[in-house]
Amino acid sequence: MTLLNDLKAFPLVKKISALQEVSWFNPNVKPLDEALDYVGLDKSDVQDASDRLERFAPYLVEAFPETAATKGIIESDIVPLPNIKVALEQQYKVQISGQLLLKKDSHLPIAGSIKARGGIYEVLTHAEKLALEAGLLSESDDYSILFQSSFKTFFSQYKVAVGSTGNLGLSIGIMSAKLGFQVSVHMSADARQWKKDKLRACGVNVVEYQQDYSVAVEQGRRQAEQDPTCFFIDDENSKTLFLGYAVAGERVKKQFIERNIQVDEEHPLFVYLPCGVGGAPGGVAFGLKLAFGDHVHCIFAEPTHSPCMLLGVHTGLHDQVSVQDIGIDNLTVADGLAVGRASGFVGRAMEHLLDGFYTISDDKMLHHLKELHALEGLALEPSALAGIVGPVHVLKDAAYLQHHALNEEKMANAVHLVWGTGGGMVPEEEMKGYLGH
Ligand SMILES: *Cc1c(COP(=O)(O)O)cnc(C)c1O
Repeated sequence: MTLLNDLKAFPLVKKISALQEVSWFNPNVKPLDEALDYVGLDKSDVQDASDRLERFAPYLVEAFPETAATKGIIESDIVPLPNIKVALEQQYKVQISGQLLLKKDSHLPIAGSIKARGGIYEVLTHAEKLALEAGLLSESDDYSILFQSSFKTFFSQYKVAVGSTGNLGLSIGIMSAKLGFQVSVHMSADARQWKKDKLRACGVNVVEYQQDYSVAVEQGRRQAEQDPTCFFIDDENSKTLFLGYAVAGERVKKQFIERNIQVDEEHPLFVYLPCGVGGAPGGVAFGLKLAFGDHVHCIFAEPTHSPCMLLGVHTGLHDQVSVQDIGIDNLTVADGLAVGRASGFVGRAMEHLLDGFYTISDDKMLHHLKELHALEGLALEPSALAGIVGPVHVLKDAAYLQHHALNEEKMANAVHLVWGTGGGMVPEEEMKGYLGH
């Protein structure tokens, strides 16, 4: 019970455990050059990931023709949300200065979620390693040869396993099966039926659990350990996944240049990232910091029922504490964020680079899901709406703005980028349910 007593010393934990919507701006945030030491990764690691994805682009064009339009590069569009901006201003009685934009990772090819970044990247990294070691491939080859049946036969000797609430399983399952691997996805109770059905249709072995994400991951890890041919993709600790996500930073920078969107001292960028275990938003935030330096402010959004990263970073206990420890059920409509214990790696690596955290209720995510559909014609899954109220939290926190010298003049030039993390593959019937039709 000492842990619970320790936790009671944090007034914010009381509010979190009462399922209140809260926001917390991180007093321990450090300038990038100081904070980098804690990450243990740098620009060259992200460049390495970016180069690997370039090598695989010709293969992806062959294997997934929907990536032909972007020449095998898995990337999403950025679109303005003019009507949502007005709606948020009215509902939350705040003026949102600057522009409000959406990053449509919801519509990434192959997997329809942000997991198409890290998940696919880690599978490709593993496949490349096996093929290089076997002398079947060299880095200077045209990787479209990997689409040949001889490679499929080669990869079929190996197994891949992962634990997931749904979307990571989709991305890793689809990619692994396409290459020829034998793949098992350990799905938590939150996982939607259609995601399991889709994976089974791709020939993936889906193992279902009645418990939450942590149990699915643990069981998957244990089964994989007993089989030397099995590679376990560890969502709680993987630096490879993290680097796959981080490539987004340079890509956004390039997209901003193409759209004449400026980011500098006078033009701050705020990015709102839905957070589950932390790998995806952590990796993206790392990439953004490398690309934009201290001019980008990264804020994580979590459901009131699953605020694991806020709890871990705020208390400094990271993966030593779970939301269940403070009496929260980890049951949320945002299945992609239904994680009770955060990644210890991401929490410790990023604790000096993340500007803030807030929680949002299931009702609000569903409300804004309907609103986004009605006002902008965009259909996202509930998890992907967690970031939408981010600007409200930032603009209402005078102390935070003052601390970073974000005066009115700068805020008038601000760019608010909401990371829309998933939803592009949600079946129509399922989406009708979310929309209340
Ligand atoms: C997985 C996921 C996230 C969060 O990613 P983590 O790595 O679990 O933090 C956010 N939104 C959606 C739709 C997801 O599937």
